[in-house]
Amino acid sequence: VKVAVLMERRPNEKRVAMVPAVADKLAKLGCTISMLSGAGLGSKLPDDAYKGVEIAGTEQHLLADADIVLSVQPPTADDIRLMRKGSILLSFIYPHKEPELTRLLRDQQITCFAMEQVPRISRAQAMDALSSQAALAGYYAALLGATQLSRILPMMTTAVGSIRPARCLVMGLGVAGLQALATARRLGAITEGYDVRPETKEQAESLGAKFVDTGVDARGEGGYARELTQEEKDKIAAVVTKHIQQADIVITTAAIPGRPSPKLISKQQVDGMKLGAVIIDLAAEGGGNCEYSVPGETISQGQITIAAPLNVPSMLAEHASELYAKNLLNLLQLFVSDGEIKPDWDDEVLAKTLLTHNGEIKPAAVKTALE
Ligand code: NAD
Repeated sequence: VKVAVLMERRPNEKRVAMVPAVADKLAKLGCTISMLSGAGLGSKLPDDAYKGVEIAGTEQHLLADADIVLSVQPPTADDIRLMRKGSILLSFIYPHKEPELTRLLRDQQITCFAMEQVPRISRAQAMDALSSQAALAGYYAALLGATQLSRILPMMTTAVGSIRPARCLVMGLGVAGLQALATARRLGAITEGYDVRPETKEQAESLGAKFVDTGVDARGEGGYARELTQEEKDKIAAVVTKHIQQADIVITTAAIPGRPSPKLISKQQVDGMKLGAVIIDLAAEGGGNCEYSVPGETISQGQITIAAPLNVPSMLAEHASELYAKNLLNLLQLFVSDGEIKPDWDDEVLAKTLLTHNGEIKPAAVKTALE
């Protein structure tokens, strides 16, 4: 089985879909791997770190006879055109953001597994790239918050008196939010968490955080949150505003699949925050959770700093690539063994992750939206 690893072409993308340890494991499954020179450099992996991996001279050579193609970001249209009909692609795609590329994958008869579609079930945890990347982003959000602040996080007793610990509020307690809470707590902050899924109360408390209970239950499908009604939003604001305004750091991570990020912090709420407070908005990809957020930028609004960084996992490319490559390996193991590709199309994980196959867009909702 020939596996090609793409060179990431998008600006600010430092991750790569293959790391040496995973290349060794794929070789044991009967795969030969090739990549372009320098594809791993953003993740501090020079060509010679990849033992046994062939370095292809051009994209044409890389892709012409590849059976399986691995990528982090959606490939370029040129790369897709170079891929063999019937070959298999594993990559993040986000079809609603990439309708043209999705149609091209369909038309080129590529079998594409979209990594963001891996179902959130126990058996697929080791393949869940959204979770592995979100965990890193959550950790980093707490560090970004700490370094933007002109105060320290822990309590400190000095010869001239004690410094009180900083307060950190995390809004949205999914994978990223819980890591942010854990990290802020390790740095010594007093932590508080808030979410619209009541089961997150226990999870926040197990990390030493206080749960801000608004009494709103917006559990939606598959463990995700649903959109809120205006009445629910008002009820939440009545409780949460005080906590936002007492915080030194607010980290927001709230996403609703396939929809713009909900606005959890209004301009008015920001204007009432402590001077010097910092908001780290991890939902910038979906437009942000704060009304002031400018995706990709750090702005000052009066004395408040609002950072809405894009592609935070890429800032931790070494570990992000390592975890992502392992997620890919675990998915590949479902259908590659003894040098052969044998997918079981009835397997729930493969069926749900499949985006295009045999000239068709598979998920009904995506098909309706794009055709
Ligand atoms: P996400 O990135 O989709 O959203 C982050 C959080 O924001 C979620 O907790 C969500 O409830 C919250 N949120 C949405 N709207 C909000 C609002 N208006 N106010 C406050 N919070 C709001 O979440 P995620 O990290 O991808 O995880 C989503 C769910 O999937 C969680 O239930 C998680 O436990 C579950 N999960 C399960 C598995 C598995 O079983 N394999 C793996 C990963 C995640």
